[in-house]
Amino acid sequence: MSSGATVWLTGLPSAGKTTIAYALADRLRGGGRRVEVLDGDEIRAFLSAGLGFDREDRHTNVQRIGFVAELLASHGVLVLVPVIAPYADSREAVRKRHQARGTGYLEIHVATPVDVCSARDVKGLYAKQAAGELTGLTGVDDPYEVPEQPDLRIETQGRTVEESAAAVHGLLVEKGLTV
Ligand code: ADP
Repeated sequence: MSSGATVWLTGLPSAGKTTIAYALADRLRGGGRRVEVLDGDEIRAFLSAGLGFDREDRHTNVQRIGFVAELLASHGVLVLVPVIAPYADSREAVRKRHQARGTGYLEIHVATPVDVCSARDVKGLYAKQAAGELTGLTGVDDPYEVPEQPDLRIETQGRTVEESAAAVHGLLVEKGLTV
């Protein structure tokens, strides 16, 4: 069986995490890998239903997702996690538990600057924040702790989705996780 791993795509809202994850999933499935995308919105609708967006709930959300990812990855699945995960200690806890189990973990920082993200504004969150209809938006009026040493940092502005997905795919090839 091919070894599984968790590939966490962290970054601001509208950075491109989800888009890259699904493009990458298509590529990997095309190569015969078993892949799962743990979509943040789906998780919040069910597994993390009832959690909010303060520091503690964001941490809990990330730990729950990390736990599911680790289980799947330990059974040979490549698990793609396009979830903001704004706090370094939350991300580190997930990484440590993967390492303790001997399961692969890669952190990808989707490093799109906030002005580009707010121009994309896929879900209208930046507009709502600017209009005073929402507070606690990551990267605007809520913290985002930039990963200091991610396994890969990708810029998405001026690049196509396919180029971004190819950059992550290249890392997985380098790590022996796919061909
Ligand atoms: P996130 O999951 O980080 O909140 P999304 O993936 O939902 O962000 O939205 C990112 C938006 O940026 C999409 O509309 C996508 O088409 C666009 N985009 C433009 N260039 C890129 C790129 N190189 N990589 C990823 N997304 C990109």
